Amino acid sequence: MLLSKFFMPVLKEVPKDAEIISHVLMLRTGMIQQSSSGIYSWLPLGKIVLEKIIDICRKEMKEAGANEILMPTLQSADIWKQSGRYEDYGKEMLRIKDRNDRDLLYGPTNEELVTEIFRTHVKSYKQLPLNLFHIQWKFRDELRPRFGVMRGREFLMKDAYSFDIDYASSIKSYNVMFISYMQLFKKMGLKAIPMKADTGPIGGELSHEFIIIAETGESEVYVEDNLLNFQSSLENINYNDDLQKEVDKYTSFYAATEEKYDPNDHKKNLNLVQTRGIEVGHIFHFGQKYSIPMNASVNDSEGKSISTYMGSYGVGLSRLVGAVIEANHDNDGIVWPKEVTPWSYNIINLKSGDHTCDEICSNLYTLMKENSLSVLYDDTSERAGAKLAKADLIGLPYQIIIGPKGVKDKLFDVKNRKSGDVSKLSYNELLNFLNIKL
Ligand code: ATP
Ligand code: MG
Repeated sequence: MLLSKFFMPVLKEVPKDAEIISHVLMLRTGMIQQSSSGIYSWLPLGKIVLEKIIDICRKEMKEAGANEILMPTLQSADIWKQSGRYEDYGKEMLRIKDRNDRDLLYGPTNEELVTEIFRTHVKSYKQLPLNLFHIQWKFRDELRPRFGVMRGREFLMKDAYSFDIDYASSIKSYNVMFISYMQLFKKMGLKAIPMKADTGPIGGELSHEFIIIAETGESEVYVEDNLLNFQSSLENINYNDDLQKEVDKYTSFYAATEEKYDPNDHKKNLNLVQTRGIEVGHIFHFGQKYSIPMNASVNDSEGKSISTYMGSYGVGLSRLVGAVIEANHDNDGIVWPKEVTPWSYNIINLKSGDHTCDEICSNLYTLMKENSLSVLYDDTSERAGAKLAKADLIGLPYQIIIGPKGVKDKLFDVKNRKSGDVSKLSYNELLNFLNIKL
């Protein structure tokens, strides 16, 4: 991508209403623009990163055997009256009337709607287990929308729903989602820690939140110190295997959110760390809580009608964009992890208009694109200092800095954004570094 053709409205000033660094940096780099409280437009840079996060999540869900569907944002109030949640949900739910005076709502979550789809089509245990997921905008009229996309009112969620014939099989489905969450956060370059969590208004008995440790996080958490550094290898995961052992590796450590923490737990000779974190995912096993009131039952092998066992599994996709930045930044700006960076390389032409600089940069840019490398080329006519500051601000992993001095010496600077290390490479060394063979 040529920067001169890319719509990236960078702000010079730090926006006043932004309280946390990810919100500041997302506004400064022109990733998002607020349209009203807690509701954002995604501008090109933000959209690219959001899509990468969506893509990783979608692939892992499919890998784990879930089927993708797309349910609407607007739902009929009728199904929520059946489950008993229409009244319970309170003011977070945006309620709407259509021209015929029918009650609609903008979906804050989809247990009811997906159960309706399920009960229409699934009648036999032979069709189970089933996991349906979708990626759709949600609306919750949060009391205090804040921190940019971290606590929005409109936000993007991946939500999956599992259906099983009995308790044991539904725990297997829960475990598959548990491990797929560990995988997908890792594939985003993040370390998320699973913690015992409260089930809240969704209900049920078994629940885990996936938390990224960050001081600015809204959740207070208590974690055994060993878990903070623990990462199971999770290579060669086969989602058809029984994953209980893999899950146990994590759950054998102590980790709980504030709601589940009991001060007596401190006395169990565990070294607990009290810290803060960002909730990026939440999974629930709630058994027959919705299938009973909503009549979602299937016949078992003996022809007996059983209310299906369910679980639901959410990932905050738009929140994750903020969370990645919260976990990856320094004083100069964002430091994208390679997994979700908008581009891998940033060519910076320190003297646009200089014939030789222009030629070297644009030839390199073409060559990199021909080799399928993901590259942003700053071909604008800004002064060198401003370009370098902008490159640090937007934080692509590698900067290839080309100016008159380097051209004269036939040496090009390659800066590693994370370490700050600069290597001076000849043109051939540069091609080698980029894995380009002529
Ligand atoms: P929270 O405690 O942060 O309000 P929740 O428990 O209400 O979250 P869930 O209903 O489990 O959230 O939703 C699944 C995921 O959606 C959460 O783990 C979170 O990542 C994301 N999410 C929830 N509310 C918001 C919001 N207001 N803005 C952005 N993302 C959100
Ligand atoms: Mg909430």
